[in-house]
Amino acid sequence: MAHSVTDKNKTYSKSPQPPFTKGGQGRISLLRRFGFTVAGPTLIFCPNGYFFMGNTPSSFIRLILRAGIVLFFFFTDPASAQQPGKLKVITSLFPLQEFAQAVGGENIQADLLLPPGAEPHTWDPKPSDVAKIAKADVFIYIGPMMEPWAAKVLKAANNPKLQVLEASRGLPLREAREHESDPKHSKRKSDEGHLDPHIWLDFSLDLKIVDSIAAVFSAKDSPHASFYKNRAESYKEKLTAVDQTYQGTLSKCRHRQIIIGGHSAFAYLAKRYNLEQVALYGISPNAEPTPKKLASAIQSAQEHKAKYIFFEILVNPKLAQVLAKEAGVGTLVLQTGHNLTKDQLNKKVSFLDLMRSNLENLSRGLECHGQ
Ligand SMILES: [Zn+2]
Repeated sequence: MAHSVTDKNKTYSKSPQPPFTKGGQGRISLLRRFGFTVAGPTLIFCPNGYFFMGNTPSSFIRLILRAGIVLFFFFTDPASAQQPGKLKVITSLFPLQEFAQAVGGENIQADLLLPPGAEPHTWDPKPSDVAKIAKADVFIYIGPMMEPWAAKVLKAANNPKLQVLEASRGLPLREAREHESDPKHSKRKSDEGHLDPHIWLDFSLDLKIVDSIAAVFSAKDSPHASFYKNRAESYKEKLTAVDQTYQGTLSKCRHRQIIIGGHSAFAYLAKRYNLEQVALYGISPNAEPTPKKLASAIQSAQEHKAKYIFFEILVNPKLAQVLAKEAGVGTLVLQTGHNLTKDQLNKKVSFLDLMRSNLENLSRGLECHGQ
């Protein structure tokens, strides 16, 4: 039976260990799903130490016929073949993958669900993603406002050993700005779908997420609890250093408006450094911005005598280019960090690299002194 464990920041669900180790139970349920009978006195040994049993001589023959398929199944299971003994962690977004790997080090393997270059707000998981979660030990995501598909996928994965961390739980979430002034949405303010999910762009919240990840890994693998805690502390020092550089640089800028030809991903960042976000799209780049929104962004750029507007890599830059041309300004990249492009993945770009490069562009675009 699942139960909840609470630390000072959040709650995550904790499930008991399955009765079989090394994934044997999962394999047997999968075999049953494919129509194999697995109970009885005849033992069939497999080279990696797993076995199952049949009832009678005739079922034994059937089992022999099926054994080839079964052995193929065992040998081609990538989860056990890849990284034996490591906690298998699946994350929805790139920053969470980096935080998990930073905390877990060589004791874990953190994989990202999103393929390179995929736009995370419009992405939907495939059956193969459900299969990955079905074999994982830990799943980390932001929350229902970022991954509305998570509840269904977790149900379909039906993995009793999985520990799930909803990283935004217990953190001070912001309302999505376009709904704050929209009376049509006032009744639905408490809906999680109207909360801004981009918490990883506030480094002070990232410190809490990193602590929660260490708590989940320690619950799953208690002999290494101090290993996870030490590594979490060390990564938090890096986050704090980046945060301090942001504080120092962004406190002396000529402009305080970040005009973005993409979606409203930077509200947490803007609030932390006393900046203002003006974005073409809402918290998701699903719908095209209205002409009114485009006009008000152009007006904002002209009023504040901005020299640059910012655009995203994962959202079509066409509107950002129209906006820049209309307002007579240049463009600079600002990266949300949800995901990497294929090129960034090949270059092993880190989340902290992305954030440092954002600060360079913010400093140039907002004309901050001392750069
Ligand atoms: Zn986003």
